[in-house]
Amino acid sequence: MTAAAPPCATPRHDWTRAEVEALFDLPLPELVFRAATVHRAVFDPTEIQLSQLLSVKTGGCAEDCGYCSQSAHFETGLKATRLLDAEAVIATAAEAKAGGAQRFCMGAAWRELKDRDVPKLAAMISGVKALGLETCATLGMLTAEQARALKAAGLDYYNHNLDTAPEDYARIVSTRTYQDRLDTLEHVREAGMAVCCGGIVGMGESRSHRAGLLQALANLPRHPESVPINALVPIAGTPLAGAAPVDALEFVRTIAVARLLCPQSVVRIAAGREGMSRETQALCFLAGANSIFVGGRLLTTPLPGEDADRALLDDLGLKPMTAREPAAAAAA
Ligand code: SF4
Repeated sequence: MTAAAPPCATPRHDWTRAEVEALFDLPLPELVFRAATVHRAVFDPTEIQLSQLLSVKTGGCAEDCGYCSQSAHFETGLKATRLLDAEAVIATAAEAKAGGAQRFCMGAAWRELKDRDVPKLAAMISGVKALGLETCATLGMLTAEQARALKAAGLDYYNHNLDTAPEDYARIVSTRTYQDRLDTLEHVREAGMAVCCGGIVGMGESRSHRAGLLQALANLPRHPESVPINALVPIAGTPLAGAAPVDALEFVRTIAVARLLCPQSVVRIAAGREGMSRETQALCFLAGANSIFVGGRLLTTPLPGEDADRALLDDLGLKPMTAREPAAAAAA
């Protein structure tokens, strides 16, 4: 598809950077209209998928992701904790379900999952799954064998973000490579799990880098079922603490291009939503976003809060997404 072609809901995996940049450069009303057209061709545009995220092991991470409060490389004042007990996690998941969450995501600040922790994670996952929730985890790099073990425990989704464009990656993280990320995504796919993979805007990247991130996501062998788009929440003590916030309309553009490039995927407004106006969020939903995190916190950053979220969705006439099987939601 060229920038001038009509929008298409059939997934493609051969996007060029020039094509993606041309979409970013469209007049905003035209871009949003195209994205909304694709959105309603695939999804009910009044439905929003609701996820809740719990940090099951906080801080002390060996990676040096320049945006993260949990890296041991930076002085952020965050207190590191041990891996939570499965019972505590399952109890929090039950509260999340009672609060309306459909998917429960468990995040651990690890460079990679250690085999010794797999049984405890498996107990958490199977316990959360037994509550009738979709399960998701983000635990760092996985081996193929670990991915299979998590899948066997009942894990539906694995989150592993690409963060930014391939050529911008070394500026953000030095302790792993883009290929490391792609390898874990491949293990997740081979194990039969759905993929949650997106990135972060507002890290001082260029529009071309934002286009490159979305191009990389769209040109994966199979599109991620969930595409979280985060707006950087600057953390004091991290290298990106002083990054200029991304313009709200540029964030909307990023959402719209993600919708056009990954038409069958759920596109999530992830971190940074608490800093957005209701109007910006509404524009994001019009541009094809159809998922948010709910609950009081993300891993270590705040969310707008349940009352604010409920009021926003009510005022916009939006409702929780009807359950979709991960496999049925899968993009080609
Ligand atoms: S983003 Fe994840 S991998 Fe990177 S430092 Fe933070 S916890 Fe570690």
